[in-house]
Order: sequence, then structure tokens, then C-alpha cells
Amino acid sequence: MLRRMSDCLFCKIVAKQLPARVVHEDADTVAFEDIHPQAPTHVVIVPRKHVPTLNDLGPEDEAALGKLHRVAAKIAQDRGFAAEGWRAVMNCNRAAGQTVFHIHLHLLGGRAFGWPPG
Ligand code: AMP
Ligand code: ZN
Repeated sequence: MLRRMSDCLFCKIVAKQLPARVVHEDADTVAFEDIHPQAPTHVVIVPRKHVPTLNDLGPEDEAALGKLHRVAAKIAQDRGFAAEGWRAVMNCNRAAGQTVFHIHLHLLGGRAFGWPPG
């Protein structure tokens, strides 16, 4: 499990050491197209700060978590599916499907989604 910043794929994308199709960045977050999209829009939104999983959040991270969702809503608005509906997903650890251990919000949009998720 890649828990150290030096090994972290998303830290490397944040630092521009790895290429990504960045669609938004600001002082706190970077958002980029998912490399294996699961919907017409599939954007991954990450805090610049390395936090491995949701289990590792501290009180100082609360604002950053809110920011991820505000960025998702802005992208949904810009892409025209905010009113129709979209999904935000955060997977925590293996059983939930987390594969990159730097917390990230999946923004999925542009199609209908089933519930419950798999
Ligand atoms: P999760 O499974 O919740 O940890 O999500 C990790 C996501 O990162 C998956 O949807 C992957 O397709 C995506 N991903 C992995 N490597 C890259 C990359 N180099 N650029 C963009 N997205 C990636
Ligand atoms: Zn990281």
C-alpha cells in the first residue's frame, strides 16, 4: 500500500511530475480526468495535501473536504449536468475499492447511475 508521499501517484500529479489532463486547480485542490473513465465525465479531485485515506483525516482537513465537493459542483455546472444529477464518490480502503492512497473525490456525470452501488 502506497502510504508515503514520495511514492504517491496523486502527489506526483499535483507536483506536475506526472502528466494528467488537469481540468481545475486552485490553492487547495487539483482536478483531472480519470485515466479509466466510468462515465462520460469522470474527474478525480484531490487535495494538494497528502492524506492516505478518509480514516486519516484530522480536524485541519475539514475545509479541504468541503472544497473537493464545491469543485465537483462547479465542474458539474460548467459541463451542464448539475441540474440533471451527478455522483460524488470517495472510496476508503480496499473493500471499498480504493487503489490510490491519497484521498480523492470521484465526480461522475453525464449518465444515470444505479443505487445501491456495487
Ligand atoms: P480509487 O479506486 O477510488 O482509489 O480511484 C483511483 C482512480 O484513479 C481510478 O478511477 C483510476 O482509474 C484513477 N487513476 C489511476 N491512475 C491515474 C492517472 N495516472 N491519471 C488519472 N487517473 C488515474
Ligand atoms: Zn499523495
